[in-house]
Amino acid sequence: MDKGIVYLVGAGPGDPKLITVRGLEALKRSDVIVYDRLASPQLLNYTKPDAERIYVGKLPDRHTMKQEEINQLLVDLALQGKTVIRLKGGDPTVFGRVGEEAELLHRNGILYEIIPGITSAIAVPAYAGIPVTHRDLASSFSVITGHESPEKLDHSIYWDKVTNATGTLVFLMGVAKIGYISDQLIRHGRSPDTPVALVQWGTRAEQRTVTGILSDIEAKVKAANLQPPAVIIVGDVVKQRATLSWVEKKPLFGQRILVTRARSQASELAAKIDELGGEAYEFPVIETRLPSTKEAESAIEQALGAAESYDWVMLTSINGVDCFFRWLDRFGIDIRRFHRAKFAAVGPKTAEALASRGVRADLLPESFRAEGLLDSLSGVIAEGQTALLPRGDLARKILPEELKIRGVKTVEIDVYDTVLSVPEDRWLPEMLERGEIHTVTFTSSSTVTNLLEALRRLGVRNPAEALKSCEIACIGPVTAKTAEANGLKATIVPDTYTIDGLVEALADRRRVSKGED
Ligand code: SAH
Repeated sequence: MDKGIVYLVGAGPGDPKLITVRGLEALKRSDVIVYDRLASPQLLNYTKPDAERIYVGKLPDRHTMKQEEINQLLVDLALQGKTVIRLKGGDPTVFGRVGEEAELLHRNGILYEIIPGITSAIAVPAYAGIPVTHRDLASSFSVITGHESPEKLDHSIYWDKVTNATGTLVFLMGVAKIGYISDQLIRHGRSPDTPVALVQWGTRAEQRTVTGILSDIEAKVKAANLQPPAVIIVGDVVKQRATLSWVEKKPLFGQRILVTRARSQASELAAKIDELGGEAYEFPVIETRLPSTKEAESAIEQALGAAESYDWVMLTSINGVDCFFRWLDRFGIDIRRFHRAKFAAVGPKTAEALASRGVRADLLPESFRAEGLLDSLSGVIAEGQTALLPRGDLARKILPEELKIRGVKTVEIDVYDTVLSVPEDRWLPEMLERGEIHTVTFTSSSTVTNLLEALRRLGVRNPAEALKSCEIACIGPVTAKTAEANGLKATIVPDTYTIDGLVEALADRRRVSKGED
């Protein structure tokens, strides 16, 4: 059997987007992912669907896997002919023990690549508005381990040299030793007034910064109960934070927001959350598929085959548009056969999806849901006309029912089915328990019921209870009602029932709770 290859990859400091392009490419083609807690679990979304995931970090019921065991694991997997990625927080060569891993691979004649990453030593200060060098303030910086056993710390760090280095000092793994570190620095000649900052969980939603001076920082860290992991920055560059802090100013800073819609539709919402400084956590609980039964197919074929008979085609979702055109293609039906029909779209995104296929919507309501569409149809649609409604299997019944009452002949077809998807994510239940998901977004009723079911399948006994401490954001009143019927109180519902409206409402809510309004 051919030997595999091992990619030793820096995953960046926490924000999953801070991985390199080369690192991401390696992740996408690997058969096995070996990772620990410093790499974001969201990076696992990029793996091949059948990739094996091996967590080697700490678990409540297990200690961290020993370094020697990890080294051997990488060798064993590669010997099985697999493409393996070892994801490491930050950069793999900065206190990442990559040397030991690479050495054993080398000794076993296994190919490997070291793909650098963005180290927390530089990125975490940057996210706190602290550049590690500055033309006037620091012309060098040192990255120092603050950890190791206390005995070893004194042997391995030349405090006199470190203290008197000209520039910024960056300590990793040093939170627990902050008192000792500041003492040593003062003792060896740094002024007690030297500015210091500690940044916890930089680049993630939990990012928190404590600043002080060498003489008071220990007390401040204790008072703030700052826990690892954190980066310690010592030097005048810390003063820059007063003017340069930037992430904290973003409206959704500090918010980890669960995105439950289908993976294929999630990117728009996730990107908008990201733009506003929030951390989108994708956990898609729905998946849409074309119906595959013979009966469903022939019903669709028959309905589409009567293209010339429709006065109206009404589309109520982007998915509906996509699938409508996929079926036309499947049955070889040219869109021009609908030449008699006017096209109605429920909202601007649906209209955009239509427009991208060269069909301009004739009708777009002011309020983007079925009721709005009905209102705007009054006086436009006439009794005796025929309307085609290509929709999802879970679409609400109000539109066809109301149309029937108005004497419109409606032909409904389920052009797609919505099914439950349960992401393979062992982390979410735990994160919910620890209060690390701040807001949950629901963009349809099925996302509500499916999230509860998905959590149940991941072993959460009482899913509604598990979501108690989260803000619940629903795209519109119908979704909100489903949420409430399932024991969740919708605290955020926008006036405009679109993704943009939802994101705006999320930001407004934060402004209010931060007291800016
Ligand atoms: N190879 C990593 C460092 C590993 S040592 C890198 O290049 O970043 C682990 C230490 O890194 C932690 O104790 C902490 O000091 C620091 N660290 C890593 N990620 C961090 C983050 N998101 N926020 C704050 N500190 C972090």
